[in-house]
Amino acid sequence: MTPKTAIDARDELAGGASVEEYVLSLLERIRERDRTINSFITVCEASAIEAAKALDRKRGRGEKLGPLFGIPVAVKDNICTIGIRTTCGSRMLENFVPPYDATVIKRIKEADAIVIGKTNMDEFAMGSSTENSYFGPTRNPLDPTRVPGGSSGGSAAAVAGGFAPLALGADTGGSIRCPASFCSIVGLKPTYGAVSRYGLISYANSLEQIGPMASNVDDCELLFNVIRGYDPRDNTSLPQGRIEAKEGKLRIGVPKEFFMEGVQEAVGVHVRKFLDKMSGVFEIGEISLPSLAYALPAYYIIAMSEASSNLARYDGIRYGLRGEDGGDWNETYCNNRGIGFGREVKRRIILGTFALSAGYRNRYYIRAQKIRTLIREDLGRAFKEFDLIAGPTMPVLPFKIGEKLDPLEIYMCDIETVPANLAGTPAISIPCGMANGLPVGLQLMAPPFGEGLLFRAGRIIEELA
Ligand code: GLN
Repeated sequence: MTPKTAIDARDELAGGASVEEYVLSLLERIRERDRTINSFITVCEASAIEAAKALDRKRGRGEKLGPLFGIPVAVKDNICTIGIRTTCGSRMLENFVPPYDATVIKRIKEADAIVIGKTNMDEFAMGSSTENSYFGPTRNPLDPTRVPGGSSGGSAAAVAGGFAPLALGADTGGSIRCPASFCSIVGLKPTYGAVSRYGLISYANSLEQIGPMASNVDDCELLFNVIRGYDPRDNTSLPQGRIEAKEGKLRIGVPKEFFMEGVQEAVGVHVRKFLDKMSGVFEIGEISLPSLAYALPAYYIIAMSEASSNLARYDGIRYGLRGEDGGDWNETYCNNRGIGFGREVKRRIILGTFALSAGYRNRYYIRAQKIRTLIREDLGRAFKEFDLIAGPTMPVLPFKIGEKLDPLEIYMCDIETVPANLAGTPAISIPCGMANGLPVGLQLMAPPFGEGLLFRAGRIIEELA
């Protein structure tokens, strides 16, 4: 059985094909090819086979089958899975085995999906290339000399490499959309509050959402419909809404700021050309959203500030790796955090602590929050005129492993994706062809709870690409 999509696989399995055989064939592919790609930190071989057998028996008993019947899902390693270690790509949590499932995991299991493995990621989701993992970098299945994007690079590579038809990622500032773009798949960052964060290990909690990744829009929507929904265990969870567009062509606004400084020429030219092609089926207009120019610094101040607070709990006493006990409390704390965290994580904890410190709070953190409000208001105004906003997902093409060493240069990769996180709006990346032989993603943003519009437009774009 070699189905092209998750929906095909589900239908074949529900129709009688063996779930066990399907899972075994994927596990074999992982064994053969993931040695090079390194998309998984943990492959759940035994539990996946056991779950597959149970599903075969369930179908045999003639019971009602779930919407993800028999579908293996690759899960980012910052989403808690009961009995399966969840490392966050960090030495700090190398041996952490959660005693409970995240709500999204509960939901996919109830829908008859199978967790096939836990995927590689930048440590604590800090990065855009999956090179910051304690477990080594993931390679891009389309070109193994290049990065898959990040921080959910393992999830994207698992889908693109044919190891699992669906994956879960998490997106704080682009971590679903960036690797989706670099690996030429579809990835959705949902509306803030649409998907429960219960069981997601926090990096910057006011910005992040768990979301679906798949090889096409329909599969992505299928997984989103399973994981979305209000959850009383997450106090940022919202009652679900839905936004519809008027009849006729969808109106798409293209901010000129999405094509300014930092955007590689090959990407800008390609996306502009693709937008021209889209203008037959959509109504496309140019807009200007000046506040977008400040999105990146505001994002990094807020994200690092929240990180410095969220990561304070990892001291080897309450949580995380415990090194040698030495002397007093300070020494023990420094020892444990010194060996448990990697360079990028330490850098962000230090910068975030600085931004929140008494004398500087107004200058950095409070200012960043004000910019965040401006961006939300600017986008809100744009959505009065347009149904969707479009631009490139990434300002650059997938780069070589080890090519970008300057942290600022990597931060710059997020200029297109962070506005959606600051504003809490949903955004999707859809493949829109190749430039210089490398994949380019188109990003669409919608007003809160406008995921339906993203899928509708996404299906049209898939046809055009
Ligand atoms: N690259 C961004 C960062 O490092 C986004 C990461 C993410 O979305 N988790 O913060």
